[in-house]
Amino acid sequence: SRIAFIASRLPGEPCPGVVLVLHDVTELRRLEQIRSEFVSNVGHELKTPLAAIQACTETLLDGAIEDPKHAHHFLAQITEHGDRLHKLIIDLMELAKIESEEDAFHLENIDIGIPIQEAIDEHYPVAHGKQISLITNPTIDELLVKADHDGIRTIINNLIDNALNYTPTGGEIKIGWKASEGNVVIEISDSGIGIEPRHLERIFERFYRVDTARARAAGGTGLGLAIVKHLCNYFSGSISVRSELNQGSTFTLRFPQVEEPNRLSTH
Ligand code: ADP
Repeated sequence: SRIAFIASRLPGEPCPGVVLVLHDVTELRRLEQIRSEFVSNVGHELKTPLAAIQACTETLLDGAIEDPKHAHHFLAQITEHGDRLHKLIIDLMELAKIESEEDAFHLENIDIGIPIQEAIDEHYPVAHGKQISLITNPTIDELLVKADHDGIRTIINNLIDNALNYTPTGGEIKIGWKASEGNVVIEISDSGIGIEPRHLERIFERFYRVDTARARAAGGTGLGLAIVKHLCNYFSGSISVRSELNQGSTFTLRFPQVEEPNRLSTH
């Protein structure tokens, strides 16, 4: 140790060579803290629906099962909480896949309009049920990006899910995409409740929600935007958001546009 070295050195003797190794543990500690917070959040998120399911089954066993009306109510609750657990586990697995597997996705040149349109089509029934109009581009030319079809579909699905969840009945959601300055730019904007500026930076964190009760009631897991952000990075893209409280939010995605070699040569 440093103390022993000083004590053994006699006055006038040359100083022996010393190698000092300093490890900066701040970053390691920070990562360890994020990891343990995540595990504790996961535990909490899994415990909540599970406890609700147990409460329902106990009530049924205590006699509620004898009354068909009560029995139906508690069974419906069990199904709802079970669905939540299922969604949470799917989202956690998706996040783990993107974070840990280097080849989690098959990257190839795809026409981004195809998975976007599929994601939009999937949401028409829910939008119709909430009397929300889904407005999209007229059909446009093929726009190529290096990505994975299902990955892009997951990104757009999550953003439209959120737009639908946080937009009141009668609202409007616009989805547009175009080429701009070497990128493919996708915009998803809604006329919903909006997000206060102080929350904007944090909504991409795992389990961060502006209003936990409301988000849970809407069926959210708090992982949607974390997944979206990771996927964007995976495909060398970026995501940004602007929003105004009670006016609506706009999420903008950018992916490098791929020009096919034979097209380049025709310019
Ligand atoms: P959740 O599953 O709770 O929706 P997300 O990660 O998808 O989780 O979003 C995080 C939080 O960001 C949400 O709980 C909500 O508070 C806010 N948010 C996301 N999208 C929107 C939106 N389009 N309009 C208003 N708030 C939004």
